[in-house]
Amino acid sequence: MTVTDAKAAFTHDDAFTATEATALVNRLRATFRTGHTKPLAWRRQQLTRLRDLLTDNRAAIADALHADLRKNRAEADAMEIGLTIAEIDDYLEHLEEWTAPQPAPVTVPGLPGSTARTQLDPLGVALVISAWNYPVNLLLVPVAGALAAGNAVVIKPAEYAARTSALLAQLLPAYLDTDAIAVVEGGAPETTVLLEQRFDHIFYTGNGTVGRIVMTAAAKNLTPVVLELGGKSPVFVDRDADIATVAQRLAQTKFANAGQTCVAPDYVLTDPGTATELQAALVVATKALFGDNPQTSDAYGRIINERHFDRLSALLGSGRTVTGGQTDRADRYIAPTVLADVRPDEPVMQEEIFGPILPILPVADLDEAIAFINDRDKPLALYAFTENDTTKRRLATETSSGGLNFGLPMRHLAVQTLPFGGVGESGMGNYHGRYSIETFSHRKAILDVPLS
Ligand code: NAD
Repeated sequence: MTVTDAKAAFTHDDAFTATEATALVNRLRATFRTGHTKPLAWRRQQLTRLRDLLTDNRAAIADALHADLRKNRAEADAMEIGLTIAEIDDYLEHLEEWTAPQPAPVTVPGLPGSTARTQLDPLGVALVISAWNYPVNLLLVPVAGALAAGNAVVIKPAEYAARTSALLAQLLPAYLDTDAIAVVEGGAPETTVLLEQRFDHIFYTGNGTVGRIVMTAAAKNLTPVVLELGGKSPVFVDRDADIATVAQRLAQTKFANAGQTCVAPDYVLTDPGTATELQAALVVATKALFGDNPQTSDAYGRIINERHFDRLSALLGSGRTVTGGQTDRADRYIAPTVLADVRPDEPVMQEEIFGPILPILPVADLDEAIAFINDRDKPLALYAFTENDTTKRRLATETSSGGLNFGLPMRHLAVQTLPFGGVGESGMGNYHGRYSIETFSHRKAILDVPLS
């Protein structure tokens, strides 16, 4: 196996062995045990260096994302680099406040003069495993949280985004403290070897099948996990909503990154009359975004690999095609596609789509929409376009989802004051901003009773 940096980055030219993994984790744990990563000054320095990595290498990162996903530069700048920098800036601004001990009133009788507080302790050595669809953001936002909380970290980039993974494996050790932070490149075999080690936290982003593997491995050591998974995020469109606005926002969010976003709107539920209006408006909105031939548009991405291309192509036969449907395997291109009159038993409704296909299913009313949502796995996000407060309240109280967003799909994940995460099949635990610090720390209870 090739070790590109004697201490910190393993590339996947050769097998990554259990002995190497053990030595790596032991080395980082030894650093952690010296207290090296705990001072806020160290955390600030590492966060600042991570920020420098992003700003110094903005163009190279955008090139790698373009090579992997044909991600356009504006999208890469906003979703990958911009959001990660915003997260880091939030830590730099609030680190003292978010990590400060919290006093707790002592209300039980019999403890006169006692004081109580909670203190956030970093957990130790964290493992962060990323998915390929936003391979910078989904890797470095949790890493920033782990560092802000004072942990050592093993970083496992997503192998399908191969150019981005290789670039980050080269840059991260050059910018960050290699005594406490290491990168391991690779796929299932390398991750399997890593998961045999004892970590103090495992943060996994990806699918539920691997999520179960991660949780099983973590259980052996009672290691806490955050699982950021996916699922089918529904959209309810009410008859009172302005359909041109709905179509524009749906097309923009569904077809960003060619639909390969964990919180992309997966399917639409609406009444038959609104569905007819919405279908026509989506044709207009899609054309406004990507022109007559999206394959030639700089704004439109590509499917990550042939396996996902073939999986998605098989879903195109569901319902009736309103717009799109064209494919080009050699270019990994699938046109932004809207399918109407889709039935719940059709293939496109059996799994998370994770691609540029938007099915519309007719429902009679809100009651039927709520029942439809509750009959299925709890989604990562639920979206609704409505002006009606009762509809909003009912969706908030009668359904369960990782997040609930009225009016602009996906944007809730950019609001760092909100926790981001799933529930049930869409995952467990959450992160972003101060929630990441809680995730990567133990909130220790401290009681101090006077001796006299
Ligand atoms: P992926 O194939 O990149 O897998 C994610 C990670 O798991 C990779 O780092 C990979 O090396 C590792 N892995 C793969 N097989 C493994 C195995 N057998 N053992 C151990 N590790 C293994 O990503 P994916 O699963 O195709 O990502 C898509 C899914 O992720 C979708 O369901 C999507 O909704 C979800 N997702 C969720 C979020 C979120 O924040 N909740 C974000 C992005 C993607």
